[in-house]
Amino acid sequence: MMGVDIGTTSTKAVLFTSDGKVAAGQSAGYPLASPTPSTAEQDPDDIYRAVKIAISHTMAESSINPKDLMFISFSSAMHSVIAVDSMDKPLTKSITWADNRSEPYSERIKHDMNGHDIYLRTGTPIHPMSPLTKILWLHGEKREIFNRTAKFIGIKEYVFHKFFGEYIVDYSIASATGLFNLENLDWDDQALDAAHISPDRLSRPVPTTHTIHGLPVPLARELGIAAATPFVVGASDGVLSNLGVNAIKPGVLAVTIGTSGAIRTVNEKPLTDPKGRTFCYALTEKHWVIGGPVNNGGMIFRWVRDQLGSKEITQANEAEKDPYDLLTEAAEKVAPGAEGLLFHPYMAGERAPLWNANARGSFFGLALHHTREHLIRAVLEGVIFNLYSVQLALQELIGVPKSIQATGGFARSALWRQIMADIFDQEVTVPESFESSCLGAAVLGMYAVGTIESLDVVQHMVGATYKHQPNPENVKIYEELMPIFLSISRKLGIDYDRIAAFQKKHLEDI
Ligand code: ADP
Repeated sequence: MMGVDIGTTSTKAVLFTSDGKVAAGQSAGYPLASPTPSTAEQDPDDIYRAVKIAISHTMAESSINPKDLMFISFSSAMHSVIAVDSMDKPLTKSITWADNRSEPYSERIKHDMNGHDIYLRTGTPIHPMSPLTKILWLHGEKREIFNRTAKFIGIKEYVFHKFFGEYIVDYSIASATGLFNLENLDWDDQALDAAHISPDRLSRPVPTTHTIHGLPVPLARELGIAAATPFVVGASDGVLSNLGVNAIKPGVLAVTIGTSGAIRTVNEKPLTDPKGRTFCYALTEKHWVIGGPVNNGGMIFRWVRDQLGSKEITQANEAEKDPYDLLTEAAEKVAPGAEGLLFHPYMAGERAPLWNANARGSFFGLALHHTREHLIRAVLEGVIFNLYSVQLALQELIGVPKSIQATGGFARSALWRQIMADIFDQEVTVPESFESSCLGAAVLGMYAVGTIESLDVVQHMVGATYKHQPNPENVKIYEELMPIFLSISRKLGIDYDRIAAFQKKHLEDI
């Protein structure tokens, strides 16, 4: 079985045996164009080509008989928008989740268009990442394109249309558009009104298990597969990653810290937050992934390495070590709580839990006894405090979690993993997972074609590499600091806006 993940930097295809072992895998990359700081778009045809390369190279690497391929099942990034005309020609690039040009329109939806009601029904926070906001931006700023657009689609819809000539969108990708009613499993009239569109300008929503057969023969030949191979439409990368790391049971939390971060758990029904802090996206009709994305994950530690870590970078070069490991060793010399130094990691603005693009980073509590090592430790702790504050929002909706499955580059640091166990006061397990969204897609595919009756089989496919138990003494220290951490970011609301305005003005002056 093959899982394909159409990501932001590359498309990966992984061939699994039916017990979840990796048999082969290939990826093909593409650029993300950023001609202005708020633009982040890609050529949809680059991506379509990469999907074909990833699949055909994986088939070639494995040298299995194409008839033995049970199915191909798809994961993709959320929130992309491509405007296509009535001849199916793209009128825009693929405008990705990272594109912030629609920011003023997200403010308008929030304040003047009952944005909170739309969020409560659609599960997607009102934010420039959301296709709802992007379509309204196209209406406001690119009216000629808007008028010529026959369909507003996402990248997976583009690829499926190329394969099968039909515009379909799975419930999962649809649930991340801000336009999809989670209860009715159909487009939401009020959200569509806000975007100035009717349902015929969107793809047809289908369950994530929807399966299509009959790829045109020349295409099948190009991919190295049989034309009869079932294609499972699948879901989004976020929800499939929860499945792929075995975090689909109630009470199990998946926490990822790569460049950015996210915290997610599964509920059997759609669930949105009266205070608007969390998302709710479909995995299947019975599995809804709720959680929050944070901007400020590993990129903050990277900033520390680059701005404060010249000593470690030099030492690492000499000793052929990783500077991150040396920085972690430096942080380890300092006691938990960094002797009263707190760091708010909001250097890239923040999505959950603040949803404020103007939030900024700060150290608080600095005193003369603090050294560079304290700053490093406070940063590692601050990233986790922030994720924990998202967990507190989730907790109001579904209670205290039972355990954590932790993934991403941060998990290479034993200290950082232990800080997570101590701040969350939970057991932290690092699953042994390779391309979790591809594995998630493959497991969902098995469910779709009927070889399994429940997604729970994933528990036999995912092992564990590390486990950490909370240390009661450290837990106490962090419990003392957490209220101060929360109170500061609440108090700084207006001043975040003021300092961000100053920075914008200053940067424009240069
Ligand atoms: P992405 O998901 O963005 O592609 P990764 O999952 O590889 O990226 O995570 C990258 C981040 O992981 C880095 O910015 C850094 O903060 C963190 N990281 C990488 N290696 C280490 C390490 N040895 N120790 C601690 N953190 C690390």
